[in-house]
Amino acid sequence: MNDEFKTLQKFDAGNEREGFFHSLPELEKQGVGRISRLPISIRIVLESVLRNCDGKKVRGKDVETLARWDAKKPANEEIPFVVARIVLQDFTGVPLVVDLAAMRSAVKRLGGDPKIIEPLVPVDLVVDHSVQVDFFGSAEALRLNLEMEFKRNHERYQFLKWGQQAFKTFQLIPPGIGIVHQVNLEYLAKGVLHQKSEVGGQRSEIFYPDTLVGTDSHTTMINGLGVVGWGVGGIEAEAGMLGQPVYFLTPEVVGVHLSGRLKEGVTATDLVLHITQMLRAQKVVGKFVEFYGVGAGSLPVPDRATIGNMSPEYGATIGYFPVDHESVNYLRATGRSDEQCAAFENYFRAQKMFGMPRKGEIDYSVDLELDLGQVQPGVAGPKRPQDRINLPELGQTFRSLLQKPVKDGGYGKENVDTATKHLVRLNGSAPQDGDMPGIDPGEELNKAEMVTNRPTPDPAKDLQGADPFRHGESKIGHGSVLIAAITSCTNTSNPSVMLAAGLLAKKAVERGMRVDPAVKTSLAPGSRVVSDYLTKTGLQSYLDQLGFNLVGYGCTTCIGNSGPLHPKIEKAIHDYDLVAASVLSGNRNFEARVHQNIKANFLMSPPLVVAFALAGRVDLDLTNEPIGKDKEGKETFLRDLWPSLKEVRDAMQSALTPEVFRKLYRDFANQNPKWNEIPSSTGDIYQWDEKSDYIHEPPFFKDFSMEVGKIENIVGARALGIFGDSVTTDHISPAGAIKASSPAGQYLMSRGIKPEDFNSYGSRRGNDLVMTRGTFANVRIKNLMLPGTEGGVTKYYGPATGTAAATSGEQMSIYDAAMKYQKDDVPLVIMAGHEYGTGSSRDWAAKGTRLLGVKAVIAASFERIHRSNLVGMGVLPLQFPEGTNAQTLNLDGSEVFSITGLSDSIEPGKTVTLEIERKKGGRNSVPVRLRIDTPIEIDYYRHGGILQFVLRQLLGTKSGKLKM
Ligand code: SF4
Repeated sequence: MNDEFKTLQKFDAGNEREGFFHSLPELEKQGVGRISRLPISIRIVLESVLRNCDGKKVRGKDVETLARWDAKKPANEEIPFVVARIVLQDFTGVPLVVDLAAMRSAVKRLGGDPKIIEPLVPVDLVVDHSVQVDFFGSAEALRLNLEMEFKRNHERYQFLKWGQQAFKTFQLIPPGIGIVHQVNLEYLAKGVLHQKSEVGGQRSEIFYPDTLVGTDSHTTMINGLGVVGWGVGGIEAEAGMLGQPVYFLTPEVVGVHLSGRLKEGVTATDLVLHITQMLRAQKVVGKFVEFYGVGAGSLPVPDRATIGNMSPEYGATIGYFPVDHESVNYLRATGRSDEQCAAFENYFRAQKMFGMPRKGEIDYSVDLELDLGQVQPGVAGPKRPQDRINLPELGQTFRSLLQKPVKDGGYGKENVDTATKHLVRLNGSAPQDGDMPGIDPGEELNKAEMVTNRPTPDPAKDLQGADPFRHGESKIGHGSVLIAAITSCTNTSNPSVMLAAGLLAKKAVERGMRVDPAVKTSLAPGSRVVSDYLTKTGLQSYLDQLGFNLVGYGCTTCIGNSGPLHPKIEKAIHDYDLVAASVLSGNRNFEARVHQNIKANFLMSPPLVVAFALAGRVDLDLTNEPIGKDKEGKETFLRDLWPSLKEVRDAMQSALTPEVFRKLYRDFANQNPKWNEIPSSTGDIYQWDEKSDYIHEPPFFKDFSMEVGKIENIVGARALGIFGDSVTTDHISPAGAIKASSPAGQYLMSRGIKPEDFNSYGSRRGNDLVMTRGTFANVRIKNLMLPGTEGGVTKYYGPATGTAAATSGEQMSIYDAAMKYQKDDVPLVIMAGHEYGTGSSRDWAAKGTRLLGVKAVIAASFERIHRSNLVGMGVLPLQFPEGTNAQTLNLDGSEVFSITGLSDSIEPGKTVTLEIERKKGGRNSVPVRLRIDTPIEIDYYRHGGILQFVLRQLLGTKSGKLKM
């Protein structure tokens, strides 16, 4: 056990257990910084840095830098953060498991023991992103949606099932159990973890805080429980899984002092929308936010988690709540053992980090105040989560946005009569060819950077004619609510708002109110615990009567899996160019996220979702205008239906017990019969199936040997692409639909797959053959080697033999050119402007670059995570000097490039030389800075990438007998 700073101490872990911990108070005593003044979130990261300090991966200097964190001037240093565990959702998790499987195959080929490949920290993958609302408004909806989900995802699930049995430190939560962050909160999170180790020659247990990264941006939800964690891209998660640090820049920490209490009628959703608006205005992007004070202490963990969840919406890395009695109470109430609860509390007490800090106790970079009593009921939208609207102002705001010009953020519908409605007869017909308006979902999806698998099978056809729609007559117009979804872990993890939705539904049903059939209603909670308490309280039956039947336990509408609308509704939207609305309890609402044809999307609490479903429109003031009429024809208002705080509390007390959590999370693997029916291969090695177009063995370890490569000059390289500023990861690795004319589309067709069955890039992330073809294939990317063109094309100049003037260049797809160059062993480079690789972190943006044969990316500047991803995949990032780029150097891609000055003794940040040999003769030398930023990254690069580095380490230490 590393103990460079001699901080290891004994403590009482509760229940007559003794444990050790790396004491931060002891570190302070040694004079290494004023640790007791540091924000709690920084202290938790510091504990990890201290515990993992081994002189290489984490250095003593890293401990000192962070311990001396200066609130007003944080050092601009990268922190190596080794997390305690990893959580994955299925979309982003599949390629990670594919890489692990490929590592095992490589070890087997080398004659080693494949079982040495195991995640080095616990990994939990929750299958939650694939369920879609195809069916709704009926008691059969859950079963039918699950059937559709399994039909669409059969191959991926088969593969995951193999992973489930093959890896010991990998736990899989099958579909139909819950949403990753809610499951994390209710079950996976431990608060404090422990590991067996040797201390002073004795077997002991070392305790440390629960920390994690996850491959979903809303991983931040867990910060509500005092667990530090955030969302990362696939490669960082892979690094974390293999025991490597996740790097991030020393953050500023914004302290938000909460005082007062929420008023009657104000929900946790209202609070988080208020905070999102407030913190967006304060520009907290890339910062930690820490909530503290008496007001923070008064919030129960589900409310804190709701606030933590929306950190990406307010832009912060995390929105953290320190550990206090509420945190321990939550663990206890959700069925965690007494032993676990005691260790959690005692550990944080021993570290002097227990209890909600008061004003003045901690130094924050920025101090903000929020009186909870000031928060008003509201919604957010129609396009951004930070655009909060007070409930009374929604109607007026919608009407004015409707008329406002598009360039000013409106919908440009001047002089429309909002009162005009159009009759639609919903006769239950299944979608017919020609019914659907001609919208290209691919375009919309790419715009929205969505990662979703669109419907391919026709539910009505595939499920023996089961009808996915509701029937009846309806009148719709601008502002009509067409989707009302109680969705997303943001809110479904919070019993107070879920019970409030049920209580509101009860009062509405008792008054004989109904929801219009044009509204697609759905309830998709993040765990079965919600169904348990809604059933126990009898409230589910009222929700059912309004159409909020259970549709599944998964992400659904939150991730855009809202499923199709009735074709006649889609047609009406199209024919009359309607600005229709969705109301949802999710966290994101940018255009085309929720549904490609619904333009106005409003985030709100679950009870308000039910209320707006009843009203059927958003262009009204629900605090003053009636929601509708009751069975006697009497006007009914929101205030008539809104449950009191006492009613919600009473329902909560009667329904939530620790036993329910224990029962529902016990043996969940066997609780989904459909999952159990999936045939799965067994064994330590995955039997790659050449027939599969979803799962394929990636070639990262094709010629793998134990011999570590040398860092050498790159000579005779060609440019594959020259790009301008702000090339995003979505340009590099698109996530939406696959175009039939693209290399990936052509490839799938050559495999006998019809375009309607392509599915999205997102769903084919387990297949490198599709993903590599998709790299740089975005229809919007502009390669300056072919001025005036758009899309993934380049000029192929052939090998750089003799002079650079070999050919005049032939236009072809980037993929085809890369393959031709690869055949001739020609190294490739990419040139780009500023902020190369911005946008959400996407593993395939770096993996695809590598598999195309790109050896170096030379850019004016890099997005932080994409830069480290490139190194992680063995691609060299290099930075032009200030003011220099491909344009100032007059490069058109016909040149031959060499990068010299590279050698094994190279150091991070060193300057090397880019040699340019021009087609018409003439040479230039340009100094470029190596953007390998840390010593460990030199190791990754030398080994050809992080996967190869870790594999060699494991083979070197654990499996002596290799056939070399
Ligand atoms: S419900 Fe929404 S926020 Fe939660 S994991 Fe799913 S997609 Fe992410």
